[in-house]
Amino acid sequence: MTGTPTRSPLRELGHLPGVTPLLRWLIIGYTTPPPRTDRRCAHCAAGLWPGACRPSARCPGCRTPVGPPAYTVEIAAAAAVGILILSGARGWELAAYTTWSMFLIALGFTDAAVHRLPHQLTAAATLSLLAFLALAGGAASTWLAAVASTVGLATFHALLHSAAPSGLGLGDVTITIPVGLALGWLNWRYPFAAALLAHTATLLAFAIQRTNHRQLQDQPFGTYLAATSVIIAATAHTTL
Ligand SMILES: [Zn+2]
Repeated sequence: MTGTPTRSPLRELGHLPGVTPLLRWLIIGYTTPPPRTDRRCAHCAAGLWPGACRPSARCPGCRTPVGPPAYTVEIAAAAAVGILILSGARGWELAAYTTWSMFLIALGFTDAAVHRLPHQLTAAATLSLLAFLALAGGAASTWLAAVASTVGLATFHALLHSAAPSGLGLGDVTITIPVGLALGWLNWRYPFAAALLAHTATLLAFAIQRTNHRQLQDQPFGTYLAATSVIIAATAHTTL
């Protein structure tokens, strides 16, 4: 573990009530269909900030549900940070994985809602992770493993995308970059484990639809990858 904690890591949890409204604001922005970019309620035109970004997730004007279901973003964020702290992540590394988890949660909820993984969120996840991990340090071999597994994972998904663009979008390729770097920094096998679990979840969802004789619907691979990655990153610290 790198970095020396100067205060209780549990205080990180205390920041969450300030962070989750921002996550909801990001998700609402990226899931609102154009040209409605002013983030106002579609029913009563009330401004959605900050009222609709609270855990109850309802328009402050007409009480219509807005964005991800009530309490889901808050539970996901609290679980990610809580497990990271309990598993022993500290210092800059805790900052790196906490920030990265928050952006991945925003990506996961956005993909689940509109089957889209905005490159801006992916870039923010990548850059914040790199900045904090650079402060955390890490051996050359650690960085090499992170970069090598990222290149491997991204190349594999780029090939899948070029073979079947309708099955795996460009956003599904780019999200493998922050996933590969974050998990590869811990262990080069972890990014591939996360991708394997995400592909398995996708196939399982298709199988369930087929069993129920329902029409096959697109699956949010990015949501599955974000979820498996955050779980692996949070729990992996216990084995370091
Ligand atoms: Zn409203």
